[in-house]
Amino acid sequence: MNKVVIITGASSGIGNESAKLFAQNGYRVFATARSLDRMKDLEALGCITVRLDVTDEASIQQAFQQIFAQTDQVDVLVNNAGFSQNGFLEELTPQHLRYQFDVNVFGLVRVTQMVLPKMRQARRGRIINVGSVGGEFTTPGASAYHASKYALESLTDGLRQEVNQFGIQVVLIKPGGVETEFVSNSTAFYPEPIDGNPYGDWRQRFTNMLATVVDSQKSSFPILTPVEVAEVIVQAAAEPEPQTRYRIGETAQTMPQLKGSMSDKEFDGLMLKQFGFIDG
Ligand code: NAP
Repeated sequence: MNKVVIITGASSGIGNESAKLFAQNGYRVFATARSLDRMKDLEALGCITVRLDVTDEASIQQAFQQIFAQTDQVDVLVNNAGFSQNGFLEELTPQHLRYQFDVNVFGLVRVTQMVLPKMRQARRGRIINVGSVGGEFTTPGASAYHASKYALESLTDGLRQEVNQFGIQVVLIKPGGVETEFVSNSTAFYPEPIDGNPYGDWRQRFTNMLATVVDSQKSSFPILTPVEVAEVIVQAAAEPEPQTRYRIGETAQTMPQLKGSMSDKEFDGLMLKQFGFIDG
């Protein structure tokens, strides 16, 4: 019987390419996202598309009712849906922070809780969480996002230890920058400036930086394609003994080491320069 994979955030970028690659590798793919229209390409490849907003309990219940009406088996869950709430911490309201965590953390936990009973019953399954190398360092102007990915590091470690007894393996995928809609979407998420707009100059500098950072033609960083990340996700699903973490690309390999070799203040200086907040 074909293996079954459920993917969140399959309407674009890494999730979309992963769904395609799983389908090409013979998996039965349940591809989910809020936008069904943007998953027509996946339907054409035989994927079953399901509307799912990971922040909405009713949508989660409905989506899994639909999925479990068609399969009793879940071999792989790829928790990929995510976005970045840009903004400097003083500008962010509790609602901004909550929504960031609703999508990237709480939504992921709820979706995971939906599949765990099936996996426990089958005494096998694999959960692949898409984190980021940004779960190991923080860029000014995006600390809400980084905090959500730091949280994922811990939740993934805890879950891995808890469900191994049921034959369920848990993996964390940690890419560096990837050329997707992720960054352009993040700029749409800036909060309103606060009184006097004290971060106005930095917002402009950060926006300018982001305009080039994941464009492989313009970036001064090594940038991954979503296909490269999808290939590692499919590999992590298939390997008999998966790694606990997959750091993908040069940035993901080198940044944590660089951070470990510097003092916090030295690393702060590097971040401010690399992300264009200060000249030099
Ligand atoms: P993307 O192209 O913007 O795709 C994000 C996906 O998440 C979309 O399919 C979107 O679909 C879905 N999504 C957003 N909010 C959702 C919600 N409330 N409920 C369900 N789905 C939702 O970005 P990407 O780069 O492929 O990002 C995928 C993952 O990779 C994210 O977790 C991101 O943090 C991580 N990542 C990205 C990079 C990068 O540089 N791009 C680097 C490291 C890690 P709908 O809008 O249709 O719902």
